Amino acid sequence: MKFIFLILLFGCGQRQLPEAPYRARIIASVGGNYVAKVVDYTYLNDVVHMRGSIGEIKGHAKVNLNADYDDVVATGNTDQLYKTVGNSVELNFHLESNVIIPNDMASMEMLGLYYGYEQTISFWQKEFDLDLDVSGKPVLHFNPELAYTSSQEQTVGTQKMNAAFFSTAGDFLFYKTSDQEEIPIKMNYGIIAHEFGHYVFHLRFANNDDSVYKLANGKTTEIDGINEGVADFLSYVVTGSVNEFEKSLPALGEQRSMPVSWTYSSLMLASCYGSYYCKGSILASALHEAAQTLGGVPVAQLIWDALPYFKEDWRNYGTTSGFDYDYFLNRIVEQGSASQKITLCASFKKWFDKSSIVLGDCS
Ligand SMILES: [Zn+2]
Repeated sequence: MKFIFLILLFGCGQRQLPEAPYRARIIASVGGNYVAKVVDYTYLNDVVHMRGSIGEIKGHAKVNLNADYDDVVATGNTDQLYKTVGNSVELNFHLESNVIIPNDMASMEMLGLYYGYEQTISFWQKEFDLDLDVSGKPVLHFNPELAYTSSQEQTVGTQKMNAAFFSTAGDFLFYKTSDQEEIPIKMNYGIIAHEFGHYVFHLRFANNDDSVYKLANGKTTEIDGINEGVADFLSYVVTGSVNEFEKSLPALGEQRSMPVSWTYSSLMLASCYGSYYCKGSILASALHEAAQTLGGVPVAQLIWDALPYFKEDWRNYGTTSGFDYDYFLNRIVEQGSASQKITLCASFKKWFDKSSIVLGDCS
């Protein structure tokens, strides 16, 4: 009887818990190809609830679409941004030789998301000394819902097939996976690194202040496009891969993989349907080309240094009819050494081939 008791104790009792640092078998990018791979985690210290020193994954958040964003920005009180801030998740897994094996798709996605996030943060810590305790530790919302209340009824919608940096809250939203995604977006290293590119833009351009983007009659489309182009380029610098997005959504390849097939003068003819993304992709392509000579990290450094100056240009000239990408391009060139300037100017002139773009530092 004692023997049977022991089997019960180990067979059906408390699940065996691994100890950090964790190893897990997931589907992860190897140079842009997604394969089954055993990976090591550095920052994750509670795998059951997907919490670690760089942030945690939460489930069941409801983003409050009724929130008064002007009020939030003015007061800094972010309480109303969520109807439900989300709860702890619980990973469903088993162990094989002390390696965590996810038991379902959601658990696979959470492990993949956290791994991509860890790799991205490792890059920013190593190359830019980024400290999340200072710049703000985000929550990674897993399958968040969007809630809107009209008179009596509450409408809860879900977004699918997308990811976002929610700058007002400083959090990330990784929406429900659709059946059109070949590799779930939330497991895509390039997309995770792209979203974190928006975090970096928000930190350096806006200094974490949402009100900076809102300029009465400002040319917001230009800022949005520059934000996207920078995020795409930074994703390339972090991952070393230019075609990561299309591993999730093949249609994104033609529109976003660097370099794109159009320049500023042929933008109207481009087979690109993402409006301001299309101009942002010219910026990403120009930066990518310069990085082939100067290196990705040095070009990222120029962007990092240029963004606070560009914010001043946005404040001073963002409502004028002439406000365009050249304000940002000139600030990047300004940060470069003499030899970097030559490479940057050649690339910027090639991609922004329109007389309205004036590159003062390049003449
Ligand atoms: Zn984006």
